[in-house]
Amino acid sequence: MQIHLSDILSKEGKVVEQQVDFEKEELSFSGDTYRILEKTPVNLRITNQGNQELLLEASMNLKLAIPCGRCLKDVETCFCLDFSREADMKISDEERQEQLDENNYIAGYELDVDALIADEIVLQWPMKVLCKEDCKGLCAVCGKNLNTGECGCDRTVLDPRMAAFLDIFEQFKEV
Ligand SMILES: [Zn+2]
Ligand SMILES: [Zn+2]
Repeated sequence: MQIHLSDILSKEGKVVEQQVDFEKEELSFSGDTYRILEKTPVNLRITNQGNQELLLEASMNLKLAIPCGRCLKDVETCFCLDFSREADMKISDEERQEQLDENNYIAGYELDVDALIADEIVLQWPMKVLCKEDCKGLCAVCGKNLNTGECGCDRTVLDPRMAAFLDIFEQFKEV
């Protein structure tokens, strides 16, 4: 959903409140695509703070299907968004692109609400998603989901009880 900003910019102190639909059905993160299971409309409030500067405030809740880090089963993951951003309309699109890293949600006098929300979701993306704390994961030999029972494979090297330690190890690697 695109919001035109020229009208808001015409008057200092002007506040516009609007409820808009989030039009995406899925979201991309780090090259993977995730299904949106539920979403509320976006409550958007734009304030002209003077000097061609806007305050953008947005809130919405949504639920994404993110695969469990061990067994790959989809986990319903909630995002409760309530955030604000400042936008300096005096700077050019090129300068803005440098400031807002890759996800550019303002182009000219248009605000792309979907891009703004997607940008915030990326910031709030969880470090690790598990279907349950003690998820046993998949058998490294046959691929069976070990939460549903043993398969009888010899996994002396990759014991599922080691999964928790491996997770910690992975976290150290990421740092
Ligand atoms: Zn799991
Ligand atoms: Zn197995």
